[in-house]
Amino acid sequence: TKWVYSFGDGAAEGRADMKNLLGGKGANLAEMASLGLPVPPGLTITTEVCTYYYANGQEYPDTLESEVNQAIAAIEKSVGAKFGDKENPLLVSVRSGARVSMPGMMDTVLNLGLNDETVEGLARNSGNPGFAWDSYRRFVQMYSDVVLGVDHYHFEELIEIHKEEKGVDLDTDLDADDWKDLAQQFKAKTEEELGKPFPQDVREQLWGAIGAVFSSWQIERAKVYRKLNNIPEDWGTAVNVQAMVFGNMGDTSATGVAFTRDPSTGENEYYGEYLINAQGEDVVAGIRTPQNLTKAAREAAGATLPSMEESMPEVFKELADVFDKLEKHYKDMQDIEFTVQRGKLWMLQTRAGKRTAKAALKIAVEMAADGLIDEKTAVLRVEPAALDQLLHPTLDPDAPRDVLTRGLPASPGAASGEVVFDADHAEAAAKEGKAVILCRVETSPEDIHGMHAAKGILTARGGMTSHAAVVARGMGRPCVSGAGQLRIDGKAGVMSCAGREVKEGDIITIDGASGEVMIGEVKTLQPELAGDFAKLMEWADSYRKLKVRTNADTPHDTSTAREFGAEGIGLCRTEHMFFEGERIIAVREMILADDLAGRKAALEKLLPMQRSDFEEIFKIMRGLPVTIRLLDPPLHEFLPREEDEFEDVAKAIGADVDHLKRRASELHEFNPMLGHRGCRLGITYPEIYEMQARAIFEAAIAVEKETGETVVPEIMIPLVATRKELGMLRQVVDAAASLVFSEQDHTVEYLVGTMIELPRAALQAGKIAVEADFFSFGTNDLTQTTIGISRDDAARFLDEYVKKDIFAQDPFVSIDQEGVGELVEIGAERGRSTKPDLKLGICGEHGGDPASVEFCHRTGLDYVSCSPYRVPIARLAAAQAAL
Ligand code: PEP
Ligand code: MG
Repeated sequence: TKWVYSFGDGAAEGRADMKNLLGGKGANLAEMASLGLPVPPGLTITTEVCTYYYANGQEYPDTLESEVNQAIAAIEKSVGAKFGDKENPLLVSVRSGARVSMPGMMDTVLNLGLNDETVEGLARNSGNPGFAWDSYRRFVQMYSDVVLGVDHYHFEELIEIHKEEKGVDLDTDLDADDWKDLAQQFKAKTEEELGKPFPQDVREQLWGAIGAVFSSWQIERAKVYRKLNNIPEDWGTAVNVQAMVFGNMGDTSATGVAFTRDPSTGENEYYGEYLINAQGEDVVAGIRTPQNLTKAAREAAGATLPSMEESMPEVFKELADVFDKLEKHYKDMQDIEFTVQRGKLWMLQTRAGKRTAKAALKIAVEMAADGLIDEKTAVLRVEPAALDQLLHPTLDPDAPRDVLTRGLPASPGAASGEVVFDADHAEAAAKEGKAVILCRVETSPEDIHGMHAAKGILTARGGMTSHAAVVARGMGRPCVSGAGQLRIDGKAGVMSCAGREVKEGDIITIDGASGEVMIGEVKTLQPELAGDFAKLMEWADSYRKLKVRTNADTPHDTSTAREFGAEGIGLCRTEHMFFEGERIIAVREMILADDLAGRKAALEKLLPMQRSDFEEIFKIMRGLPVTIRLLDPPLHEFLPREEDEFEDVAKAIGADVDHLKRRASELHEFNPMLGHRGCRLGITYPEIYEMQARAIFEAAIAVEKETGETVVPEIMIPLVATRKELGMLRQVVDAAASLVFSEQDHTVEYLVGTMIELPRAALQAGKIAVEADFFSFGTNDLTQTTIGISRDDAARFLDEYVKKDIFAQDPFVSIDQEGVGELVEIGAERGRSTKPDLKLGICGEHGGDPASVEFCHRTGLDYVSCSPYRVPIARLAAAQAAL
């Protein structure tokens, strides 16, 4: 096996498509080197070494060391310097590089190869002892922190003390002697903490750093991140060792990060930040405020410090050429790191840039329009779940707002919530169902779980490429970063700005599109669905095979779903209509009645209300299919709970309160979800289903007469377990139909079908299909009854199951493909073997989950049905499943 791959000088052993082996960073460095771009020479130790390392008691393969030595020799030759040489030392960076970028792991050690001797050589060769000693102390600090585990703050403290003694404020006021002194202090500090001296042998330094990268694959933060992002444990990380280039060699040197297009809006404009006379980490760390890349961006921001385009026009032009070359080559927006060393440009990284959903859409649509990619690729470029960001509200521009302060618009969307100051609190509060805004001085990988739990993120420090900004954009959380006037004191539970205080628990609103931070809650507006969104959806619709319907019970939800492109209603839960206004009294009257006559009297009152609901829904759906489910929940859900509610019902039906209470307690069930519900209600009280069927047919006829458009209601019977149940209830519906049709002298076409939401129904689907025109898989109940986990009680322990990897994901969110999914497959297959053209759909929550949609496509269902806001997600997921 080959364990090490070299790159540099216009050539490379690796390629961009070798990410699995070389990690993302290594593969792209190789690709850039082959493209002839200026890449400092280096080597990549493969992810297979990481796998080997963990499989073999943290030992390396035998030949690794000699392969590394050979590759180092090649770097030495290319640079004209020697690793560990006193006169002319080669310095290297060591970075981790998994297949996908992974915050939380050991990131970077810079300036490796410096020791008490080589630092003198660097001082002489660079002609800049201040730079050399600063580099040395940075190395000691970074290496001690990330490799040896001596905390960062120890060193920051020493710098502060030194500055105080010298009577200066800024790091830039320190000279060579100061840094030399500090470098010695740092080493002494590390020795004091560890009980052994800071390593002087450069090979020992190198292997220490390599080992730290591999070890960091298994630290807690990295594990959490992998869990959240479904990254397998066994992928492993690569290690990149690369010749150092210096952005901190004076005013003709710089370092920066850039995107080839705006990652927030998707505008086709270079976008980024740079710092003169600085090293890479300074930009991301948010210690100094970075400068704009382009003149236009500087002007738009009203910034005073010159842009790179203005201060280094020639290098900027070269950089812009590299951007264009990379975009054309990768056919995607790139996220780039670069360094300028004494006027010479070096590329340190490129990768597909993380972007907001809005930017993803715009970039995909524009690249397709420009012919850089085709429409299919464009459809595949947008993460279905990310559309969520676009479908959610933004701030109403006209709403009054009390602006506390302003930061950078780091990730779009607006969010209101209670202020919390740390990640653990954010997580705990979110578990209680609270909306929270996580407010931090800055964020680090330790905060990921809190950022995930929060509705929005606010930081006082850091730029558009700070940790908070990058992670928030990736997660789709609104974020305002670098609100520099905020004083955040998390320990005291308060933040302040311009003499005003906000305490933990107070409500604030952040607008990630403008950067505004407001006190209290601010009104929001619905999103714009025209333009790029409509275009991409149109393309998606042309590729998908699955139809997408919606679960909607009210005229309001129905119209929303229509706007989002629903092609019908897959589930109208009639019981939700029963709760509205006065109706609940009639419903209760029906339930509490002693006999058939009493029930019929109450149902008589409900009939016109149901009919008018159905009329409205049929009108909004204008001839599209509408599946109406007959009454499903256990009756006790409708019962009065409060004393005065009993009195209201008693009054309405002229009955005695105590009598009603007795009836209510008779209806009590130990296990209502497995009790008297679903079609069992129709079997025992056929008059209920009869009334509902009548309301549906009368409404359909009325709408056909009024609009002249045909209405084809699909009547659905819930919780069927046997063919007989469905057969009997089908007769009830058919009888109601004939009656209404003859009364009105008008017939409508209709279907009668069933939900498949019990394991027995799936297994008996072949027989049940005899009585059914369609099946709709109710995967909520099917999951509950297959796994035997109560959907209402699961939240208490399911988290633990997911954490312990018993389930990869919550089975109520993403369908358990091998368990519940097998029953769906069996149901579909057996149903269709009886009736080849049996219409099949799914209406559980899974209908809006991209992975489940893909499963439904594979299983050959005709449609998925999901909540209105998830309709676009399902449309895109269905298209991607088909491509
Ligand atoms: C289901 O069980 O999947 C379903 C759609 O019905 P409900 O959620 O109303 O039980
Ligand atoms: Mg159900």
